[in-house]
Amino acid sequence: MEYEAVIGLEVHAQLLTASKIFCGCATTFGGAPNTQVCPVCLGMPGSLPVLNRQAVACALKMALATDCRVSEESIFARKNYFYPDLPKGYQISQYERPLAEHGHLTIRVNGAARRIGITRIHLEEDAGKLIHSEARPVSFVDFNRTGVPLIEIVSEPDLRTPDEAVEYLKALRNILLYLEICDGNLEEGSFRCDANVSLRPSGAAALGTKTELKNMNSFRFVKAALEYEIKRQRARLAAGREIVQETRLWDAAQNQTVSMRGKEEAHDYRYFPDPDLVPVKIAPEWLDALRQNLPELPVARRQRFQRDYDLPEYDAEVLTSDKALADHFEATLKQAPDLSPKHVSNWIMGEVLREMKKGTLVIGVEPATTPPPIKIDVAEVVHITSSATASLLTLVEKGTISGKLAKTVFEEMVATGKDPEAIVKERGLAQISDAETLLPLAQEIIDANPKEAGDYRAGKTKVMGFFVGQLMKKTKGQANPQLANELFKRLLG
Ligand SMILES: [Zn+2]
Repeated sequence: MEYEAVIGLEVHAQLLTASKIFCGCATTFGGAPNTQVCPVCLGMPGSLPVLNRQAVACALKMALATDCRVSEESIFARKNYFYPDLPKGYQISQYERPLAEHGHLTIRVNGAARRIGITRIHLEEDAGKLIHSEARPVSFVDFNRTGVPLIEIVSEPDLRTPDEAVEYLKALRNILLYLEICDGNLEEGSFRCDANVSLRPSGAAALGTKTELKNMNSFRFVKAALEYEIKRQRARLAAGREIVQETRLWDAAQNQTVSMRGKEEAHDYRYFPDPDLVPVKIAPEWLDALRQNLPELPVARRQRFQRDYDLPEYDAEVLTSDKALADHFEATLKQAPDLSPKHVSNWIMGEVLREMKKGTLVIGVEPATTPPPIKIDVAEVVHITSSATASLLTLVEKGTISGKLAKTVFEEMVATGKDPEAIVKERGLAQISDAETLLPLAQEIIDANPKEAGDYRAGKTKVMGFFVGQLMKKTKGQANPQLANELFKRLLG
């Protein structure tokens, strides 16, 4: 029997507010353990939560950007469970009446557009973090993260393949970055994803039994975990066995999912409205103001790139699908307005993107600003600013170095973090464009290759490529190819 996979994703995104969702504690990552806590986020008896307006504003922006319907009134609920990282014994979340519902997002997979439904977006608080000691049989808990605002974005079970799931996650993360409400860092856990996966006979309407996957902290792991789980379920079904509804963890070291616990049902959490918090009513004027002030989103930016920079749709799509790339592109052109936008686009989509995919390169916009955080696999990273890209491409357009040598310079920029002009000077890579230097070298080549010279004079103009190639070799790629052509023509003519 043929089966199709049905995938739904639950994304948790930490909101970039200065303080926590129900108290004034700082949300900065990496502080000494338990230094960013107070009676409210530690769940001390008698303390009372107060909702952070900025967290609601961030959540509403995401709701608007994904065409959700914002509820006039939503309710905070207590989700009760026991775990050592949860000091109150319950998490404040939203259940029956979430902040927003019925949105959607359009993704592109292999050129085809797919509309993915968003069931709901709700606000909740994050839990603390357990640190398990490797040296001793003890565990520690850090409550700094307790009460950091999160939005949970739940998709409809509209995704069919691991590739679609990854595209959806990338698109979602990109919108969060465009809105500047989340830093999208998968490794630090500010953008996390759980996946629900089930299989059903192709064409069937009813859903099969699902498993929930956790612990996937990179796009690569999401894809691998989904692929593994689909294969595992297919093998069980083919053998006539049942799928057990459960939560499974992705084990990156073993490349497999392993059973973690039986799946809880909603009733296990004994949700009820939090009596300490009033219902959230969204004033229409506030929502309108937020809508008016939404920043430019990926689709609008793509259209503007096509219009203002005369870029092909493909280029505009690639550049704007990652805010860091789009920002780098625009900042480069701002710093060097004489550059051809298509030249800059080709460069970023080729060389820069290739290095970024290795995970060792972070790009920024200005020399002074902090580069946007991206998923980094390797500890050693190099930052390339837009001013470095601008000066490198200016060297090419001015003819100081050839396009081919620019790649060599870029390799060294990535390896050493040095400035392109300094590299060209240090290594003497500047293109040789004066005839006086090249002429004697060209003559030498002709003298050493009488047969080819004869061929050329007999009308076989194709050997010109051979002569230019020889001169390139002699000058380590630094001869100006156009000038080389002219010189050989003159000497052989
Ligand atoms: Zn606090």
